Amino acid sequence: MNLVSRWMNEAGMTSTIDNFGNLIGVYEGFNPSLPRLVIGSHIDTQPNAGRFDGTIGVLGSIEVIQLMHEQQVIPDRSIEVVSFADEEGARYNKGLFGARGLTGNLEPGELERKDGTTRAQALKEIGLSPGNPNPPRYTPETVHAFLEMHIEQGPVLENQNLPVGIVSGISGPLWLTVEFEGRSGHAGAVPMKLRRDALVGAARVIHLFDDIVKSDLSQPTVGTVGFINNFPNSRNTISEKVTFTIDLRDLLPERRKQYEDKLNQLIYTTAEMYQLQVKVTEETNSDPKYCADWIKTLMEEELLDMRQEPFKLMSGPFHDSLIMADICPYGMIFVRCKEGISHHPSEYASIEDITIGTQLLYQTVLRVVTNQNFIVGVRRNESNI
Ligand SMILES: [Zn+2]
Repeated sequence: MNLVSRWMNEAGMTSTIDNFGNLIGVYEGFNPSLPRLVIGSHIDTQPNAGRFDGTIGVLGSIEVIQLMHEQQVIPDRSIEVVSFADEEGARYNKGLFGARGLTGNLEPGELERKDGTTRAQALKEIGLSPGNPNPPRYTPETVHAFLEMHIEQGPVLENQNLPVGIVSGISGPLWLTVEFEGRSGHAGAVPMKLRRDALVGAARVIHLFDDIVKSDLSQPTVGTVGFINNFPNSRNTISEKVTFTIDLRDLLPERRKQYEDKLNQLIYTTAEMYQLQVKVTEETNSDPKYCADWIKTLMEEELLDMRQEPFKLMSGPFHDSLIMADICPYGMIFVRCKEGISHHPSEYASIEDITIGTQLLYQTVLRVVTNQNFIVGVRRNESNI
């Protein structure tokens, strides 16, 4: 963080660290009282992960300011580059911490979450005094827009053979846990017609859920069963209880609801078919967060100018943008990453692709801060404000 802070200073910003450990570089505009433009991402990572997730968004943002500084561009409004603290939630198992702190969205008791020491103690140890400032630094009144560049963390851009893409929105996940309970028994002794096998029921749902989500492959809907627990999980015993998770994401809440309804129908007909008791618990049900149309349009125009295809794609994973979306319009740029691999040491994005993404970020920032006019080299006449 100290190194990144130094780079911010060298690029022409003043940098501070707030109560939550967010590193914020300020590049002052002609009128600092206007709502500011915020750009950035995060530099924390997962254990045994890669070097690009988040980092390219922070370093790319610093590069944008450095270039503006070198070209003596004074934006109308101030620009803040943020390196958000603890996006990944690797230690306290609750991510997007810095972004939620900056926007006043911490949950009660969150600073008391414990891993060795509490989050509050850990922040104090690095000289910060954690607590909710009132009002928070970022509110709908103080932020004009947010821009984030990030690696895609998926294979879509690579499949399209494109270096960058414009994000259309972050899809909302629906997380369910399904529990089937049947009757256990000896695998050799219980005749097939008397069985109430929970694992067979679960297998049917998992298989047909995949078919439901694949029913229209032109759409970005994704569905996953990533966890299963089988009891007693024994070779010669009929399964009594099976628990598995559902992760269903889509950009269109209506379509996600249609698939959810089909899934529910499938779960209950399967339970009836195999005489199982069923319990479905909903853990998360978030709405999609759409990128602002006007920002997508700016990016599209700039990409065309750069002779690149303005391809749009959805984001399945969360990003700091998800939180910023609640207080301001936002836009995201995705950079192609090799084989879609992320959260792994082999995570890779080429410097050429990152350069194209950073150039698009620069052009977009210029468009946003020059919508209200800007000055190159000299200060503009006050009457133009
Ligand atoms: Zn990230």
